[in-house]
Amino acid sequence: MPTKVEMEKIVSLCRRRGFIFPSSEIYGGLSSCWDYGPLGVELKRNIKQGWWRAVVQERDDMVGLDTSILMHPQIWTASGHIEGFSDPLVECKSCHLRWRSDDLESNNCPSCGGELTESRLFNLMFKTSMGPIEEEASTVYLRPETAQGIFVNFQNVLNTTRKRLPFGIAQIGKAFRNEITTGNFIFRSREFEQMEIEFFVKPGTDKEWFDYWLKERLNWYVKLGIKKENLRSRQHTKRELAHYARECYDIDYLFPMGWAELEGIANRGDFDLVQHAKYSGKSLNYLDEETKEHIIPYIIEPSAGVDRSVLAFLCDAYDEEQDKEEIRVLLHLHPTLAPIKVAVLPLSRREKLVAVAKTIYADLRQCWMVQYDDAQSIGRRYRRQDEIGTPFCVTIDFQSLEDEQVTIRERDTMNQIRVPIKELKTILTAKLSGELFDNQPLWTTKS
Ligand code: ATP
Repeated sequence: MPTKVEMEKIVSLCRRRGFIFPSSEIYGGLSSCWDYGPLGVELKRNIKQGWWRAVVQERDDMVGLDTSILMHPQIWTASGHIEGFSDPLVECKSCHLRWRSDDLESNNCPSCGGELTESRLFNLMFKTSMGPIEEEASTVYLRPETAQGIFVNFQNVLNTTRKRLPFGIAQIGKAFRNEITTGNFIFRSREFEQMEIEFFVKPGTDKEWFDYWLKERLNWYVKLGIKKENLRSRQHTKRELAHYARECYDIDYLFPMGWAELEGIANRGDFDLVQHAKYSGKSLNYLDEETKEHIIPYIIEPSAGVDRSVLAFLCDAYDEEQDKEEIRVLLHLHPTLAPIKVAVLPLSRREKLVAVAKTIYADLRQCWMVQYDDAQSIGRRYRRQDEIGTPFCVTIDFQSLEDEQVTIRERDTMNQIRVPIKELKTILTAKLSGELFDNQPLWTTKS
């Protein structure tokens, strides 16, 4: 059965523990902008690293790129963004579908019947000016997607890497959209981050690669702990299909407000390379060595949101358990994603214990993000770590001074084992990479 957690619980945990804060809070906040706190930044970084590892590091048909946010304004004419977003727009307040108001026959959303926003000429791109004197400066845009930076570098990558089709280019970076309606915490904001792949293939093989990437991307979320039943793929109807797309699927997650898009997979055909060749006057062909023909590759685009992934991983990991009189709140985060991998907890603040604990702390920090906590009872400290998803706590007690052993306590099962200090790093390395713990899987995703 799919499971949902209430958004208030996630927002409250994120605030309380320093995952995510409202932007510019001391000035009253800035609508739909968010700041990632000390734990949030780690979680977000781990998600991006996990993605990069899966789509670049572990593959020989992918390379990375990091292009600038400000680009030549003609790019947005070629891509269709200047024209495509300048319609009189209304947006449905409930399902967020956008409609041209001059196309509509009634005052309600044609898809779900929901209430519509006021109509206005609206371009989603943020405009700014480049150059010291505003009147003379040229208008540039904050990119609304990272994809275009990849398309316009297609030849550069081809020439410098000698990649042959099929191959892909991956990029992670900020994107900006002046969304008509925002909300649902970090789900829809005006400044966000994307993780995008543009995978170039021979025309005719595009369907096969589309199916491949859809499966691959769904599996990535499951491998990192998202429950299968909270994910689904949904094909776009003809009406929803973007102007550049031949086919498109959304990977939806069951967010607290219901099923919504986490990632989009689109078959963009040759639209982008044809457009940029036309507007730039540069050839963006590819020489097929088998047939000796110049072709324009088709592009399969898996485009994911970093912030929506953060929200999905948090929602999916959130759990509450009755523990005696209290509720134990815990995040079953996959160890790869957990912001803090190990907490070092001396049983007391006695000097001798502290000395051992600090040495262990310094040693483990060479490998992972580690927290040291000696405040309040050991039970309280375990709770604090459970709530932020720390997979392991290492406790140093008086016995440790004699037998040179410490206790490892596991988050999900609360099982404990005693291990020699000199083997601690090796054992934690094995456990963080998935070794069994007392015959229990190291981390458990609750189904
Ligand atoms: P939506 O229909 O929800 O507005 P979209 O179809 O416009 O999304 P895409 O253009 O396909 O989104 O962008 C790819 C991904 O970027 C989305 O799947 C989402 O994860 C992320 N994304 C897009 N817009 C936003 C936003 N305003 N805030 C946060 N993430 C976003």
